Amino acid sequence: MYQQKLIASPLQTITFEGHSFYLKRDDLLHPDFSGNKARKFYYFLTHDFPNIKKIVSYGSAQSNAMYSLSELAKMRGWEFEYYVDHIAEYLKENPHGNYKAALANGMVIKEQNIVSKEDFDSSVLFIEEGGRQKEAEYGICILAEEIMEWQKEKGIEKLNIFLPSGTGTTALFLQKHLSSNIIYTTPCVGDSEYLKSQFLELEANEQYHPTILTLEKKHHFGKLYKDNYKIWLKLQQQTGVEFDLLYDPLGWRVLLAHPEVLSAPILYIHQGGVLGNESMLPRYERKYKDIL
Ligand SMILES: *Cc1c(COP(=O)(O)O)cnc(C)c1O
Repeated sequence: MYQQKLIASPLQTITFEGHSFYLKRDDLLHPDFSGNKARKFYYFLTHDFPNIKKIVSYGSAQSNAMYSLSELAKMRGWEFEYYVDHIAEYLKENPHGNYKAALANGMVIKEQNIVSKEDFDSSVLFIEEGGRQKEAEYGICILAEEIMEWQKEKGIEKLNIFLPSGTGTTALFLQKHLSSNIIYTTPCVGDSEYLKSQFLELEANEQYHPTILTLEKKHHFGKLYKDNYKIWLKLQQQTGVEFDLLYDPLGWRVLLAHPEVLSAPILYIHQGGVLGNESMLPRYERKYKDIL
């Protein structure tokens, strides 16, 4: 069964470090197909692809995109083949998190160098790493419409929106479809220059680009920073919401470091990814056991 309609994700108010925030719970969009990957792949869930039999993609063995693609393939009755450079021995012996869930959905994982789109025939739907593709606009536009409708209902004139970026696809298409709001984001993978180049690949007109905020210090994706763990724990304690451990801790740190953005009502977008915490959290706990 496909042609499934997603219902609008809920919106709530939270208080964190003395500030009030609206929180868009895209992590609660659907039990199995949620977060920004569900938005980015929604086009492939709801359109006809009579010739497609298989999804092929590549990336890391614990990626959120990998898991969401395995759900998409299951919902559509397609095969799913995924290429990784390397799978850690520990993960192979103790499958958990996104990796385990994707395997349970029937993912065939190949530990070999990818491949390009040209290596496959027309029965394959090839998805770039992390879901960086123009079709993402379709689902992200729906997210923008949900926000617009809610904002109108609430009568909020000026609303700042914040979300952390990987490829920047979500932030970019949101800004494009919410042109009367300012979308703020921060690069979690690479630096501002990288993020800017990602924006340019999807949209040449810089007028439609989100506003990039950063911290002074360089940040490496996937590295275990004490400050990231600390803010994640605080978020849990003060808001009761579980955020992801890869993107959200940096996102919140950057947001709190920019009081000028906090001066207007602000909406933070929870982009899901909490299944990935199954692998990140034990690593943090081992490294910083004395933090509490
Ligand atoms: C993939 C992901 C992101 C990054 O999304 P982009 O569209 O690549 O910028 C942010 N947060 C979470 C939880 C994700 O899974």
